[in-house]
Amino acid sequence: MTLYENFLWWVDGSPQAMTVDQGRVVWRGPATDAPLEVGRRIDLEGGTLYPAFIDAHCHILPTGLDLQKLHLGPCSTPGDVLDAVRARHEALEPGAWLHAVHYDQTKFPDGAHLHRDALDAISAERPILLRHVNGHASVANSAALAAARIDETVEDPPGGTFVRDESGRLTGVLLERAHEFVTAAAPEPTLDEMVEAILAAGREMAAVGIGTATDMMTGRWNLARELEAYRLASEQGCPIRLRLFLQWGTVLGPRGIEPSELAGHMGAMDAERCKVVGLKIFADGAIGSATAAIYGRFLNDPDDGRAESGQLIYSPDRFHAMVRAADEAGWRLAVHSIGDRSTDLVLDSFATTADPRRHRIEHAMLLSDAQIERMAAIGCHCTMQPEFLMKFGHAYRRQLGQERTARLKRAESMRRAGIPLSFSSDRPIVSGDPLDGIRTACSRPDGFDPAENVSYDFAVRAYSEIGAIANDDAGFVGRLEAGEVADYRLEGSSG
Ligand SMILES: [Zn+2]
Repeated sequence: MTLYENFLWWVDGSPQAMTVDQGRVVWRGPATDAPLEVGRRIDLEGGTLYPAFIDAHCHILPTGLDLQKLHLGPCSTPGDVLDAVRARHEALEPGAWLHAVHYDQTKFPDGAHLHRDALDAISAERPILLRHVNGHASVANSAALAAARIDETVEDPPGGTFVRDESGRLTGVLLERAHEFVTAAAPEPTLDEMVEAILAAGREMAAVGIGTATDMMTGRWNLARELEAYRLASEQGCPIRLRLFLQWGTVLGPRGIEPSELAGHMGAMDAERCKVVGLKIFADGAIGSATAAIYGRFLNDPDDGRAESGQLIYSPDRFHAMVRAADEAGWRLAVHSIGDRSTDLVLDSFATTADPRRHRIEHAMLLSDAQIERMAAIGCHCTMQPEFLMKFGHAYRRQLGQERTARLKRAESMRRAGIPLSFSSDRPIVSGDPLDGIRTACSRPDGFDPAENVSYDFAVRAYSEIGAIANDDAGFVGRLEAGEVADYRLEGSSG
């Protein structure tokens, strides 16, 4: 038994002590009541003890894969970008794709995209793909286009653009579906690369105090390989607990995994370190790309007289059938829903399930008072990503205008209504330090209604104990109560 001593408890600042046996909290209480007979003592040097953060909605494997890519965040001129790409090209083995992330031409003096000719000058043989920081665009060189079988005769896909220059030649700039099409032509990560990536993501997340993270779309490449990679990473000492939501179609779709194979993967996991929690469904798109299903119109919509906009991914009948199939098979659901119109559909569907409290809505960025009341009555969980307000405010205003943007992410109203609301990052699209999320939730940036600020106390709980509820981990992790695992973080110690 180990005694942790000389720390303050985060809730009330009182001096406390905690005993831990085999990773579990045995007792925590006033320092003056600490047992005298212990095997080992750990001095926390006056720091404040908190439960470790729980990031209940992020993308673990993609975070790790991005860490292996060239990071162009510091580059503010085309010359900076090309120098960084050239250096990486010279370091890479022949034939491998050169992937870069956080490319952002809006930082360039003239704001113009790179042309593929500039990338071809570095290498015409190696595929080079620079992904835009917004995740919806990229610039490819000729080898990357060729690998995706794109030539000058290509036509734009629905919802995407292969950008051309004045002479009509492809520039290599790829928007939306065109970007996704070329990205999909890159080789899938191998099992070893996946394990390495998950371990790297785990190290990065542990370094900012995260103890548990939830991957919100496992099965993007190959479900069986990803499940194996998560299990292997946990066995190889991944410093965070891994929680997984699998894409609905990879389990219940026509080409889904065999149930016995899935059961084999799940049974081989040590559930304390790594477990499958449920299934993920997308109900709509995003605000920045005007694809969230909303009541009313996006500012840039052509005026066709309709009173609604954006896209439901599935027809209501199809969506209800998907929810029913998952619920009847005993799965918990996490449904991506950003627009208010989409969220009505999700609530309609959850309301018909046996126990809606098992299910989660991801994002729910636009909500009316009536919807908040209804969500509370239904009892489903909701996860929210406060950091988005810092990073995407300009994109929201462009699509929704100032007034509707100010009322996005109504965390305080939801908390007051009693909705189980957890906070998370959705990394890698944001940097994902929970302290940034907490700061933003407590003090929303200019232009966002300050009445929706939450207290620091609530924000910390939303990033720890309420996240545990979202992951079906209540009573196991998140509060440092007796019987729970001793995942903690320390702030402000002198050591
Ligand atoms: Zn996500």
